[in-house]
Amino acid sequence: MSDCIFCGIAARDIHGRIVHETEHSLAFLDVNPLAPGHTLVVPKDHYARLDDLPDELSADLFRTVDELVPRVEDAVDADATNVGINNGPAAGQEVEHVHVHIVPRFEDDGGNPIHAVAGERPDLSDDEMDDIEATLSDL
Ligand code: 5GP
Ligand code: ZN
Repeated sequence: MSDCIFCGIAARDIHGRIVHETEHSLAFLDVNPLAPGHTLVVPKDHYARLDDLPDELSADLFRTVDELVPRVEDAVDADATNVGINNGPAAGQEVEHVHVHIVPRFEDDGGNPIHAVAGERPDLSDDEMDDIEATLSDL
């Protein structure tokens, strides 16, 4: 997509600190990192949301993330990583091209676990949990 920053980086029209690529995926440093080594992994082709991605590209994307996590941790001597996707604007997605964040974490870095991303915790009854389970389940 012509006005998409990440398509521009994938096409090498916009500068990006590219650290790895596969046939379908590209990894580069986040320009405004939450931690040293904050890396984004994207499909080279433009898809806005995770469920838009064809299976082959999704498999390549997550395989690439899996390979990169230990490399990122080693590169900045991190103790751990948070790996996540803001999947849609309501979840905080600002760049509408699928991207996986790999955020290095350090002991006592003052950050939060992924549990901190959502709003107020719902107080769900067993009936409500049963309904969700039934709606979601394919068993
Ligand atoms: P989102 O909120 O969409 O999940 O995150 C978008 C991420 O893209 C942000 O962490 C932001 O810093 C990063 N970003 C935005 N523009 C650019 C850019 O031009 N280059 C790079 N490398 N990262 C960018
Ligand atoms: Zn794009």
